[in-house]
Amino acid sequence: MLRNVFGIRPGRRGNGFEADGTPCADPGAWPVAIGSHIDTQPSGGKFDGNYGVLAGLEVIRALDDAGVRTERPIAVAIWTNEEGTRFTPVMMGSGVYCGAFTLGHCLAQRDRDGVSVGEALAAIGYAGRDAAPRLAAYFEPHIEQGPVLERERRTIGAVIGALGQRWFDVTVTGQDAHAGPTPLEMRRDALRAASRLVIEVRRIAGQSPDYARGTVGQMFVQPNSRNVIPGRVEFSVDFRNASATTLAAMVQCLRESAARVAAEDGVEVDLREIVHFPPCEFDAGLVAAVERNARELGLPVMRIASGAGHDAVYVARTCPTAMIFVPCEGGISHNEIESATPEDLAAGCAVLLRCVTQAAG
Ligand SMILES: [Zn+2]
Repeated sequence: MLRNVFGIRPGRRGNGFEADGTPCADPGAWPVAIGSHIDTQPSGGKFDGNYGVLAGLEVIRALDDAGVRTERPIAVAIWTNEEGTRFTPVMMGSGVYCGAFTLGHCLAQRDRDGVSVGEALAAIGYAGRDAAPRLAAYFEPHIEQGPVLERERRTIGAVIGALGQRWFDVTVTGQDAHAGPTPLEMRRDALRAASRLVIEVRRIAGQSPDYARGTVGQMFVQPNSRNVIPGRVEFSVDFRNASATTLAAMVQCLRESAARVAAEDGVEVDLREIVHFPPCEFDAGLVAAVERNARELGLPVMRIASGAGHDAVYVARTCPTAMIFVPCEGGISHNEIESATPEDLAAGCAVLLRCVTQAAG
């Protein structure tokens, strides 16, 4: 559906579909899937997403070369529009697959030129079929897109899940006033208060466990004139954490800081939550399998949390799921210079092959 592609290598228990083309009802015959996305950001790079799909094809080739037949079928999945650069929402194909969005909602989304997803699919002559297989397990190999594996000199990241995200729009209201005649103690300086809160965001994240992140990436200062004390500042807060409880504690901390700064600086601070995406925990058994298989292959491995969204986060709502991270050079991604070594990519495939054959019997 929605042009998600499933390439299926049949197992002894069939190809994941009944004779009439409907998804197989018997869970014992559901495919084990490997997948990711092949769309990209305008500036690349070529490993984000593509690696997971090519790794899946490589597993199929390796099994063919070795003449190995599995009990369950093995599917290579390509999820449509993960990046969301032309059409939103992001992770559209996997989102429809898991029921996060309806197919009709996504088909109706339009790009900047007014072309809908449905029209764009019709134009390429392939909208996919309605029936997608149900999956017994899903593995998504991916470059880390961050610097941790490289810094820790580990080849494999056993991904425990994806960080939850809570985003806020913060508005600080003070009073515009002349920079010269207004004494310091009589100011209601919205930018000073906002600056204190920017530091608080970093402090709160810095003292929180569970892979905490805290970022202020956007700020608008009014009137933004060099000799006017700013009367209004709007800025963004992006909190991420692997634990919903810790994430809630971070938000509570920010609310307390906002109340304190508002009182001390004589301003009003308004926090409006605009995104609340709960943390995703991958399947404990599959995460342990990634770790164990890496160790048995003599590959340095560590547990890691994904700070970015991936199709696996949605697919995890439908079946046991895990991700396998490999390092990328300098942790750089969404950039033309994105790079990864053949050795690391091959190591990820070797771990994947073992995980998949174990899961598929
Ligand atoms: Zn990706």
